[in-house]
Amino acid sequence: MENYKHILLAVDFYEQVDVIVNKAQLLATQNQAKLSIIHVVDSLPVVDSNYGTEMPFNMDLTTELVAQSKEKIAKIANKLKIPSERAWIEIGSVSYEIVRIAEENAVDLIVIGSHGRHGLALLLGSTANSVLHHARCDVLAVRLQNQ
Ligand code: AMP
Repeated sequence: MENYKHILLAVDFYEQVDVIVNKAQLLATQNQAKLSIIHVVDSLPVVDSNYGTEMPFNMDLTTELVAQSKEKIAKIANKLKIPSERAWIEIGSVSYEIVRIAEENAVDLIVIGSHGRHGLALLLGSTANSVLHHARCDVLAVRLQNQ
């Protein structure tokens, strides 16, 4: 089997993100692959405590979420020594953007959690499932513990 050359790690900021991060790091090392990271700010965001602060009333929510996401991604990217040009923050449909960035950057493996925000109950309708259906490259859904 050929080594993977470019791995894309898709993260939300929910529990167990470290499990996916560590797995992607291990795979990148083992394959001597380039590692990139992506977080997508849903184009219809819902205020959620996982983004940290409470939103003031009149604020442009998407702009605020992008700013917060940049900080969080930067921390993970730093830890993984991923340069900023390979740390993507996109706005739109989560699975669509993950697949698009993968295709545009010759990614050959997407690493994603088996669940996150949508929980185990919605596994089959989840981001992982949608990415698996639409991506042209391999997709690794890292099994996360039941929450
Ligand atoms: P979910 O569909 O929310 O259960 O999430 C499943 C997995 O998809 C997560 O563990 C992440 O790896 C990935 N994911 C979910 N939401 C996002 C997002 N907004 N940006 C990037 N990856 C995401």
